[in-house]
Amino acid sequence: MSGKLSGHDAHCHHCANHHELQISGLGVSYQKIRALEEVGFSASCGNTVALIGPNGAGKSTLLKAIAGLVPRTSGSILWRGVKVSQWHREFAYLPQHEEVDWSFPVTVRGLVEMGRYSQLGWWRRWRDEDEAQVTAALESLHLEDLEKRQISELSGGQQQRAFIARALAQEAHVLMLDEPFNGLDRPARENLAALLRRQAAQGRLVIASHHDLGTVRDLFDQVLILNRKALAFGTVDEVFTEPNLALAYG
Ligand code: ATP
Repeated sequence: MSGKLSGHDAHCHHCANHHELQISGLGVSYQKIRALEEVGFSASCGNTVALIGPNGAGKSTLLKAIAGLVPRTSGSILWRGVKVSQWHREFAYLPQHEEVDWSFPVTVRGLVEMGRYSQLGWWRRWRDEDEAQVTAALESLHLEDLEKRQISELSGGQQQRAFIARALAQEAHVLMLDEPFNGLDRPARENLAALLRRQAAQGRLVIASHHDLGTVRDLFDQVLILNRKALAFGTVDEVFTEPNLALAYG
């Protein structure tokens, strides 16, 4: 297994059972474009799942649908057997770099603090524990020295890391990341790869769209091959095969 974590062995300290994300019959349309049709798969915590497929395959749309950011035209998305809209605190979403307004006036630390707000609720004050989580998230992305900078004053890769830190600070159970490795240099990529594996080992579910087919095997446990429809889903060993890739990439 070359040091890769298998979800089935990973100890899930968040949950006694294996919590599952169950998607069935999912359809999403933008005006006339049917971006997703009859998409179904189930993924359980403790795994890292790659979403792969050509440009326009619907990878971003699938992540947004799970995050509740685009409406479904059909199907259901359940987490632990309950509609995903009931669980928004358990889901953290990293948008694609282009979709973020980087001129928004906030420091790196301020951005990461925003990740805590969804855990706060109106009745609870900011505590030392929140501060500690923010600091830990900044450290795990090696952003301590940049914490006072405005996000507009960062490089693209640093901005990406700041947003990933925000998702981590949220301590969500499911991390949905739209091309998280985009724009990162090699050390940052390796750091993120280790970090995502740790997240899965701690019982989280990581779902990430990913373009670089050459690194899927090293980075992920499972893969969903998507091209408007779900063409294949399973472990990398079972599913990441030439014939399956040909179905999606032609
Ligand atoms: P890429 O690899 O290029 O990022 P993707 O797999 O993430 O692509 P999506 O961005 O989900 O694909 O797009 C799926 C389809 O939906 C495409 O045909 C795209 O043109 C269309 N689409 C996406 N967003 C919108 C939108 N806001 N309005 C209309 N159509 C959209």
